[in-house]
Amino acid sequence: MRVLGIETSCDETGVAIYDSDQGLVSDLLYSQVELHERYGGVVPELASRDHIIKCLPMIDLALRESNTRFEDLDGIAFTQGPGLVGALLVGASIAQSLALALNIPAIGIHHMEGHLLASQLTSKPPEYPFVALLISGGHTQLMACHQAGSYELLGESIDDAAGEAFDKTAKMLGLKYPGGPEIEKLAKQGATDRFTFPRPMTSKPGLDFSFSGLKTHTRNTLAAIERPTDQDKADIARAFQDAAIDTIRIKCERSLISTRLPSLVIAGGVSANQSLRKCLAELAIKHNVEIFYPELKFCTDNGAMIAYTGALRLKNVTTQNQSIQVRPRWPMTELEAISP
Ligand code: AMP
Ligand code: MG
Repeated sequence: MRVLGIETSCDETGVAIYDSDQGLVSDLLYSQVELHERYGGVVPELASRDHIIKCLPMIDLALRESNTRFEDLDGIAFTQGPGLVGALLVGASIAQSLALALNIPAIGIHHMEGHLLASQLTSKPPEYPFVALLISGGHTQLMACHQAGSYELLGESIDDAAGEAFDKTAKMLGLKYPGGPEIEKLAKQGATDRFTFPRPMTSKPGLDFSFSGLKTHTRNTLAAIERPTDQDKADIARAFQDAAIDTIRIKCERSLISTRLPSLVIAGGVSANQSLRKCLAELAIKHNVEIFYPELKFCTDNGAMIAYTGALRLKNVTTQNQSIQVRPRWPMTELEAISP
């Protein structure tokens, strides 16, 4: 079975082909980072227009490099949500049109399920059930994953996502977009003992997150310094990152204790952060649990996770809805379990 996957939810065009016998036979990614860099964040209209330009040539290339003919495809998976509506519509229109022309199913995939299931694209995938921490530019969620497609929400951010907090903090410090890797780099030069930032929502029980107060605290700390030097900025980046990571650690620890599940799967762009990984590795030793990450290249947006999730979900497709529909907001708990 061969499935083409198309990811266009935000600022990366991802096109991949997954074969149930051979694994990934093509995996192409185009990042729009340079396009949005000078605006300090993603400009939705520019993102949509760029997906239109890149998507079809990338599909052509993916087919060519994997020796796949259109008639070899069994399904076309696309990111149906959550994401930017215009960007999602590009992938959805292309997928639905191709599927209609080829008379094969189009499979709408939940972007965050794609991130989560990207952890399965390895030789030693995690076994269900497990706790998942999804930390990306748009989401911060802790879930109990009972089987593929069966997810129970344990906690989530009530305001900014973790990645969004990194991006906004980076912007305040005059760093370029995307801010996560920039903060990580700058924080290495920062002092650990100069500022201590709050760990929001950790003093009371519960698994929800809030990052907007931490962002405001960062802004106020910066504003209180008359002419911030590079060292001041590095110290602030360090304090922000330490607080964000420590908050995530506390919530992960609580979720492992309350669910008593034996492993933790971490996905989404923020999971590329090496200090976070180090901190969670210590947590894993303390609680004797195993931690799984997708390969680094699958931590951020990609088409491979959409093609793979599409291949799993293809079995579940019964009726074919040919209308072009996207779901910019889409709770993951509404997904149907995937039959094993
Ligand atoms: P995603 O939404 O999954 O595509 O991930 C993108 C988000 O991950 C952005 O908010 C980035 O700033 C963030 N990110 C990427 N690398 C890192 C890093 N090393 N540390 C913290 N955040 C990161
Ligand atoms: Mg993403």
